[in-house]
Amino acid sequence: MTPEGQALLDQGAAELGLNVEEQLPRFEQLLALLVEANSRVNLTALKTESDIVLKHFVDSLSCLRGGHLDGSGLRVLDIGTGAGFPTLPLAIVRPEVAFTPLDSIRKKIDFVRSAAEALNLTGVTPLVGRAETLGRDPDHRETYDRVVCRAVAALPILAELGLPLLKPGGLLVAQKGPISEEELHAGRRAAGEVGGRVTEVDAFTLPVLGDARTLVVIEKVGPTPKKYPRREGVPNQQPLF
Ligand code: SAM
Repeated sequence: MTPEGQALLDQGAAELGLNVEEQLPRFEQLLALLVEANSRVNLTALKTESDIVLKHFVDSLSCLRGGHLDGSGLRVLDIGTGAGFPTLPLAIVRPEVAFTPLDSIRKKIDFVRSAAEALNLTGVTPLVGRAETLGRDPDHRETYDRVVCRAVAALPILAELGLPLLKPGGLLVAQKGPISEEELHAGRRAAGEVGGRVTEVDAFTLPVLGDARTLVVIEKVGPTPKKYPRREGVPNQQPLF
């Protein structure tokens, strides 16, 4: 990583209240692995160092706002992790948390697995699959303390995919761009339908870049009816609200 890239990472992390000096070598290694893999397979549209540092690394770290992912031994499922975001940056700074990054695209999970191994992130267990399938699998349903997702789907869809996988009292932490009143309203109704309640809507701007982001937190306050999640693809094609 160039000195300019390091400065952006330091500044971005500092604005989030984090000091990543000790973890810098791992971020440098992740950057190199991502750039190298992206030259062979199309993993992410972001290609420049500053874009990867700010829009992948710092953006992913912003999921730590509110402290919902702090806690030794927490089991966190990352739905639609793509090339490992937000999981990989979060696992670098929170090695005590157990992350399961999930994506339906094998080549993306192959990258996440090899990066986690290269970085010795032993708390990361990547999985290929769909959230709808996992949500009906007794080995996964109601077993996670947290579900995170970044840039995956509209809030009503995320509620249907995420809530079945949470233990009672667990939290879905959805990182999104600016969110409309309409999406939020639909998300609140969908959350109610699947046993959740929107407890936090944290609108903020991304460090350095100033882009608008929203962290929406949904708490699992009751059981999710057995009929959810519906079969693969249906939550996207026919959102609950
Ligand atoms: N979270 C990553 C990020 O922020 O860079 C990737 C975002 S990408 C726009 C959305 C990803 O979600 C894709 O890789 C897609 O394969 C995955 N995805 C969408 N719906 C999914 C589902 N139901 N189950 C598993 N993965 C899903």
